[in-house]
This record gives sequence, structure tokens and C-alpha cells, in this order.
Amino acid sequence: MARGSVSIVVERCKACGFCVEFCPSKVLALSSAFNSKGYHPPHAVTPEKCSGCDLCGMYCPDFAIHGFRTDKPAAKSETEKEPDDAC
Ligand code: SF4
Ligand code: SF4
Repeated sequence: MARGSVSIVVERCKACGFCVEFCPSKVLALSSAFNSKGYHPPHAVTPEKCSGCDLCGMYCPDFAIHGFRTDKPAAKSETEKEPDDAC
């Protein structure tokens, strides 16, 4: 399953709420904390649900948030067999 993470630049946020509204996985909510401009930036309330789709980043008018994929190829423990052709 695709996994992702979301990065928030708190000081750029103007608390429009677009990212909260449009996140398909309902990862985000506006925080009760203030940034230095007096806005409530979002925070991830269910970060484990983030797919890294970056819809939040596409909707944010202030480039204050972006999502990214963190899924790595399944950790295959394929230990390569060393060729043993010592002819
Ligand atoms: S869309 Fe951007 S400016 Fe609006 S609340 Fe989210 S992070 Fe803040
Ligand atoms: S990257 Fe996608 S799933 Fe993650 S917080 Fe942003 S909109 Fe939601």
C-alpha cells in the first residue's frame, strides 16, 4: 500500500483550510496553535493515513504544505548468490 508523509511550513499558512477540506484521507485538521501571523496552521491528526498524494499541496495557495511518497520497494531480502565459478 502506498504510504506518504506531509510537510507543513507553518509560517506560510493562512489557515484557509483547503488542505484539510480536500485531503481524501482526512489526515489534516487545523491546529489550535497560532503561527506568527496569527493563523491556525494544519497538522496531521492521522499521519498514518497519508498516501503522499500531494492534493493538499496542489490546493494550497501559499505553498505551505506538500505531500510526498515514502513507500519504498518492498524490502526483499534477496541475498544475491555469489557466482562460485572459480574455474
Ligand atoms: S491550504 Fe495552505 S494556507 Fe490553506 S490551511 Fe492548508 S497549509 Fe494553510
Ligand atoms: S499528501 Fe494527500 S493524503 Fe497526505 S495529507 Fe496531503 S492530501 Fe492528505
